[in-house]
Order: sequence, then structure tokens, then C-alpha cells
Amino acid sequence: MRRQSRKRNEIKWGAKVDNSLVLIVEDEPAIAQILEGYLTRDGFRTVRAGDGETALQHHALLKPDIVLLDVRLPKLDGFGVLGRLRQAGSTPVIMVTAVADDIDRLSGLRLGADDYVVKPFNPQEVVARVRAVLRRTQGDRAETIRRFGVIEVDFGSYSVVVVKDGRRIPLLLTLSEFRILAYMIRHPTQAFSRADILDACLPESEALTRTVDTHISNLRRKLEDMGQNGFFPAVRGIGYRFSDPR
Ligand code: CA
Repeated sequence: MRRQSRKRNEIKWGAKVDNSLVLIVEDEPAIAQILEGYLTRDGFRTVRAGDGETALQHHALLKPDIVLLDVRLPKLDGFGVLGRLRQAGSTPVIMVTAVADDIDRLSGLRLGADDYVVKPFNPQEVVARVRAVLRRTQGDRAETIRRFGVIEVDFGSYSVVVVKDGRRIPLLLTLSEFRILAYMIRHPTQAFSRADILDACLPESEALTRTVDTHISNLRRKLEDMGQNGFFPAVRGIGYRFSDPR
């Protein structure tokens, strides 16, 4: 019951953020541009390569999270690139082709690609495939990062960044501060008593409820130092809540 209501809150309030880097290997600029547009709109970072050799260089240098790999490419074709990528590691690869022979090869042989897409494709479908392959290969890591207004929380690595004007500034918190922020931010409209916060966030400690006041005031101060005011308003007679002031 509780789990469900949490989940609803997250979907409604926390926009899913996926910072994964997608290497788009495509020699037709118009197609590359469409893919780039759809992927960046969905929160991915992208980099392009127009031929197989450049793709390998970008892969070695930039270590993308996933590769969208056209088969028919200048210099080194997609199958050649795939072979080299597989020697180098396990970066997920989605092959892209319009050629029936390639499709036979891709579907019939175990070449080590994680998925393939047939041209002409629906770009939204390609984005969905990218997401699905990443989810399958990375587990649920991508799901652990969520954005709440300017605050981005990585529940997996216990880290927080403030995203403002395209810059990502780490918010350095103690573990107790992180737990309190992570707990309250998941329930953005709810008011919590100091005892609630202690029970949920610091259950093993002998801390007094006024410790919560200290943590909250430290959280406020750290956010204010970044020009972010008003995130943890006091709720009279109860305690505190998290609120996005904008
Ligand atoms: Ca091509």
C-alpha cells in the first residue's frame, strides 16, 4: 500500500532522468540528427560518428553507455565495428539497417548485438529500445536517479546534484542529511513530525528530536549557499515538509 503511493508520487513529481551517453553511428546526417533529437529530448546525452573508424575512436575515448550502430557505413562496416566492440568489452549495441540480407544475418546469427532496428524506423521506438536494452544490461540503476525541480537525487550512490543553468553542482551532504532529504523528497506534499523523520531516517541512533532541526537547518544552509531557498519549510505544530519553492 505504502509502496504504491510512493511510486505514484515519484511518477507524478520526479521526472526520470537518464544521463546515459548514446554513441550514434550513422553516415546519413539527416537520420543521425533525428535520432539525436529524440534521444536528447528524452534526457540522453549523445555523440555522433559518421563512419566505423570514428565510431571506434569515440568508443575508446568517451566510453558510451550504449551504441546505436548502422550496418552500412564507410571505412569499416557495422559488423566490423561490432566485432571490435565485442573484443573491447560489453558495451550494449543496437544495430540499425535497411538491408534485408543484414536483417537475416542479425536475426539468424549470434553476432553479439543486444538488439536490432529496421529502417525506416519510428524514432520513438528506437528510444524505447535504447531504454529497454540499458535497463536489461544495467539493472535498475537508471531508475534510481530522479529529478525534483533543480535537485537531482541518485538514490543508488547517495549523491545529490543541483542542476541550474545547465550546470551540475554537487551538493555535499552527510549521510544523515542525505537520508532526510531522500526520504522527504519522495513525499513532497507531506508534513513530517521530527519523530517521523528520526524513525525513518536515523532509526539506529539515540538522537533527540531536536537533532532533526540541526540537520534540516544544515540542509537549508547548504542549499542556500547555492542560491536555492525555501526547500524545507517548517510546518507549524508538526515539523517540516519538503517543498519545491518555484
Ligand atoms: Ca548507412
